Amino acid sequence: MEAVVSVAQAQGSYVCAHSGGAEHIRKAAGAGILCFEHGYELDRTACKAIRDSHGYVVPTLSVTRSPQWMKANRFENWTIEKATASGPAHLDSIRTAVKEGVQLLNGTDMPPGEVNDGVNATVREMAFMVEAGLSPLESLRASTIRPAELMGIAKEVGAVELGYRADLVAVSDNPLEDIRAMEGIFFVMQAGRVIRWERS
Ligand SMILES: [Zn+2]
Repeated sequence: MEAVVSVAQAQGSYVCAHSGGAEHIRKAAGAGILCFEHGYELDRTACKAIRDSHGYVVPTLSVTRSPQWMKANRFENWTIEKATASGPAHLDSIRTAVKEGVQLLNGTDMPPGEVNDGVNATVREMAFMVEAGLSPLESLRASTIRPAELMGIAKEVGAVELGYRADLVAVSDNPLEDIRAMEGIFFVMQAGRVIRWERS
Protein backbone atom coordinates (compact mmCIF):
# COMPACT_ATOMS: atom_id res chain seq x y z
CA MET A 1 0.00 0.00 0.00
CA GLU A 2 2.84 2.38 0.82
CA ALA A 3 4.40 1.72 -2.57
CA VAL A 4 1.12 2.46 -4.37
CA VAL A 5 0.66 5.66 -2.35
CA SER A 6 4.19 6.87 -3.08
CA VAL A 7 3.78 6.28 -6.83
CA ALA A 8 0.43 8.12 -6.81
CA GLN A 9 1.93 11.01 -4.86
CA ALA A 10 4.83 11.25 -7.28
CA GLN A 11 2.21 11.81 -9.99
CA GLY A 12 0.47 14.49 -7.89
CA SER A 13 -2.41 12.16 -7.14
CA TYR A 14 -3.82 10.12 -4.24
CA VAL A 15 -5.23 6.68 -3.48
CA CYS A 16 -8.75 5.61 -2.48
CA ALA A 17 -9.70 2.20 -1.12
CA HIS A 18 -12.95 0.33 -1.59
CA SER A 19 -13.07 -1.10 1.91
CA GLY A 20 -15.27 -2.13 4.80
CA GLY A 21 -13.33 -3.52 7.76
CA ALA A 22 -11.81 -1.45 10.57
CA GLU A 23 -8.43 -3.18 10.82
CA HIS A 24 -7.59 -2.93 7.11
CA ILE A 25 -8.75 0.66 6.99
CA ARG A 26 -6.61 1.58 10.00
CA LYS A 27 -3.54 0.10 8.30
CA ALA A 28 -4.39 1.71 4.97
CA ALA A 29 -4.82 5.15 6.56
CA GLY A 30 -1.40 4.66 8.18
CA ALA A 31 0.03 3.86 4.75
CA GLY A 32 -1.29 7.16 3.39
CA ILE A 33 -4.46 6.06 1.61
CA LEU A 34 -6.64 9.13 1.63
CA CYS A 35 -10.22 8.06 1.03
CA PHE A 36 -12.30 5.02 1.95
CA GLU A 37 -15.46 3.92 0.17
CA HIS A 38 -18.16 2.21 2.31
CA GLY A 39 -16.51 1.81 5.75
CA TYR A 40 -19.15 -0.68 6.91
CA GLU A 41 -17.38 -1.65 10.13
CA LEU A 42 -15.37 1.31 11.35
CA ASP A 43 -14.33 1.50 14.98
CA ARG A 44 -12.89 4.43 16.92
CA THR A 45 -9.29 3.42 16.29
CA ALA A 46 -9.80 3.24 12.52
CA CYS A 47 -11.67 6.56 12.58
CA LYS A 48 -8.87 8.24 14.53
CA ALA A 49 -6.32 6.93 12.01
CA ILE A 50 -8.35 8.40 9.14
CA ARG A 51 -8.82 11.71 10.92
CA ASP A 52 -5.16 11.98 11.91
CA SER A 53 -4.09 11.43 8.30
CA HIS A 54 -6.65 14.05 7.13
CA GLY A 55 -8.49 11.38 5.16
CA TYR A 56 -12.11 10.97 4.12
CA VAL A 57 -14.87 8.36 4.19
CA VAL A 58 -17.54 7.99 1.51
CA PRO A 59 -20.13 6.19 3.63
CA THR A 60 -22.48 5.14 0.79
CA LEU A 61 -25.28 4.64 3.33
CA SER A 62 -27.60 4.16 0.35
CA VAL A 63 -26.04 0.74 -0.24
CA THR A 64 -27.54 -0.84 2.90
CA ARG A 65 -30.90 0.97 3.02
CA SER A 66 -32.36 0.99 -0.48
CA PRO A 67 -34.23 -2.34 -0.92
CA GLN A 68 -36.79 -0.85 -3.34
CA TRP A 69 -34.07 0.49 -5.60
CA MET A 70 -32.30 -2.87 -5.54
CA LYS A 71 -35.53 -4.65 -6.38
CA ALA A 72 -36.27 -2.28 -9.26
CA ASN A 73 -32.74 -2.93 -10.55
CA ARG A 74 -33.23 -6.72 -10.41
CA PHE A 75 -30.85 -7.57 -7.63
CA GLU A 76 -31.33 -11.11 -6.29
CA ASN A 77 -33.43 -11.36 -3.13
CA TRP A 78 -30.57 -12.76 -1.06
CA THR A 79 -28.38 -9.78 -2.02
CA ILE A 80 -31.12 -7.36 -1.00
CA GLU A 81 -31.57 -9.17 2.34
CA LYS A 82 -27.82 -9.21 2.97
CA ALA A 83 -27.50 -5.48 2.20
CA THR A 84 -30.45 -4.48 4.35
CA ALA A 85 -29.37 -6.72 7.26
CA SER A 86 -26.06 -4.86 7.52
CA GLY A 87 -27.86 -1.50 7.58
CA PRO A 88 -27.90 -0.88 11.37
CA ALA A 89 -24.21 -1.81 11.84
CA HIS A 90 -23.30 0.36 8.84
CA LEU A 91 -25.14 3.32 10.36
CA ASP A 92 -23.37 2.75 13.73
CA SER A 93 -20.06 2.65 11.91
CA ILE A 94 -20.66 6.00 10.20
CA ARG A 95 -22.01 7.53 13.42
CA THR A 96 -18.68 6.62 15.01
CA ALA A 97 -16.85 8.32 12.12
CA VAL A 98 -18.91 11.49 12.58
CA LYS A 99 -18.29 11.48 16.35
CA GLU A 100 -14.55 11.10 15.78
CA GLY A 101 -14.53 14.05 13.39
CA VAL A 102 -13.87 12.14 10.15
CA GLN A 103 -14.79 14.10 7.02
CA LEU A 104 -17.54 12.42 4.98
CA LEU A 105 -18.09 12.70 1.24
CA ASN A 106 -21.29 12.01 -0.67
CA GLY A 107 -21.38 8.84 -2.76
CA THR A 108 -23.99 6.15 -3.40
CA ASP A 109 -22.55 3.33 -5.56
CA MET A 110 -25.53 4.01 -7.83
CA PRO A 111 -25.21 5.35 -11.39
CA PRO A 112 -25.38 9.18 -11.67
CA GLY A 113 -28.90 10.56 -11.85
CA GLU A 114 -30.41 7.41 -10.33
CA VAL A 115 -33.72 7.79 -8.46
CA ASN A 116 -33.89 6.19 -5.00
CA ASP A 117 -36.99 6.34 -2.84
CA GLY A 118 -38.57 8.77 -5.32
CA VAL A 119 -35.62 11.13 -4.96
CA ASN A 120 -32.32 11.69 -6.76
CA ALA A 121 -30.00 9.15 -5.09
CA THR A 122 -27.31 11.71 -4.26
CA VAL A 123 -29.91 13.94 -2.59
CA ARG A 124 -31.26 10.92 -0.68
CA GLU A 125 -27.74 10.17 0.57
CA MET A 126 -27.53 13.70 1.99
CA ALA A 127 -30.44 12.89 4.31
CA PHE A 128 -28.88 9.52 5.24
CA MET A 129 -25.70 11.35 6.29
CA VAL A 130 -27.77 13.65 8.50
CA GLU A 131 -29.28 10.54 10.11
CA ALA A 132 -25.71 9.43 10.82
CA GLY A 133 -25.08 12.65 12.75
CA LEU A 134 -23.88 15.25 10.24
CA SER A 135 -25.48 18.66 10.50
CA PRO A 136 -27.36 19.70 7.34
CA LEU A 137 -24.55 22.21 6.66
CA GLU A 138 -21.90 19.48 6.89
CA SER A 139 -24.00 17.22 4.66
CA LEU A 140 -24.05 19.99 2.05
CA ARG A 141 -20.30 20.42 2.40
CA ALA A 142 -19.84 16.64 2.07
CA SER A 143 -21.53 16.99 -1.32
CA THR A 144 -19.71 20.09 -2.55
CA ILE A 145 -16.50 21.58 -1.14
CA ARG A 146 -15.13 18.45 0.60
CA PRO A 147 -14.99 16.26 -2.51
CA ALA A 148 -13.45 19.22 -4.33
CA GLU A 149 -10.77 19.35 -1.60
CA LEU A 150 -10.01 15.65 -1.99
CA MET A 151 -9.71 16.00 -5.75
CA GLY A 152 -7.51 19.07 -5.47
CA ILE A 153 -9.96 21.35 -7.31
CA ALA A 154 -11.30 23.29 -4.33
CA LYS A 155 -10.10 26.57 -5.82
CA GLU A 156 -12.38 26.11 -8.86
CA VAL A 157 -15.50 24.22 -7.74
CA GLY A 158 -17.43 23.40 -4.59
CA ALA A 159 -18.19 26.91 -3.34
CA VAL A 160 -20.20 29.96 -4.36
CA GLU A 161 -17.45 32.52 -4.58
CA LEU A 162 -15.97 34.98 -7.02
CA GLY A 163 -13.74 33.21 -9.53
CA TYR A 164 -15.37 29.82 -9.04
CA ARG A 165 -17.13 27.90 -11.79
CA ALA A 166 -20.86 28.67 -11.66
CA ASP A 167 -22.17 25.26 -10.57
CA LEU A 168 -25.39 26.10 -8.75
CA VAL A 169 -28.67 24.57 -7.67
CA ALA A 170 -31.71 26.34 -6.23
CA VAL A 171 -34.38 25.04 -3.86
CA SER A 172 -37.48 26.70 -2.42
CA ASP A 173 -36.94 25.87 1.25
CA ASN A 174 -33.93 26.19 3.54
CA PRO A 175 -31.87 22.97 3.58
CA LEU A 176 -30.06 24.13 6.73
CA GLU A 177 -33.37 23.68 8.55
CA ASP A 178 -34.29 20.40 6.86
CA ILE A 179 -31.88 18.69 4.48
CA ARG A 180 -34.82 17.14 2.63
CA ALA A 181 -35.42 20.61 1.16
CA MET A 182 -32.77 19.47 -1.33
CA GLU A 183 -35.44 17.19 -2.81
CA GLY A 184 -37.02 20.31 -4.29
CA ILE A 185 -34.20 21.32 -6.64
CA PHE A 186 -35.91 23.32 -9.41
CA PHE A 187 -32.89 25.04 -10.94
CA VAL A 188 -29.53 23.64 -12.00
CA MET A 189 -26.65 25.59 -13.52
CA GLN A 190 -23.49 23.77 -14.61
CA ALA A 191 -20.43 25.88 -15.47
CA GLY A 192 -22.67 28.89 -16.08
CA ARG A 193 -25.11 27.04 -18.34
CA VAL A 194 -28.73 26.49 -17.22
CA ILE A 195 -29.46 22.75 -17.31
CA ARG A 196 -32.87 22.79 -15.65
CA TRP A 197 -35.29 25.54 -14.69
CA GLU A 198 -38.75 24.43 -13.65
CA ARG A 199 -40.78 27.61 -13.36
CA SER A 200 -43.91 27.16 -11.27
ZN1 LIG B 1 -18.75 -0.09 -3.80
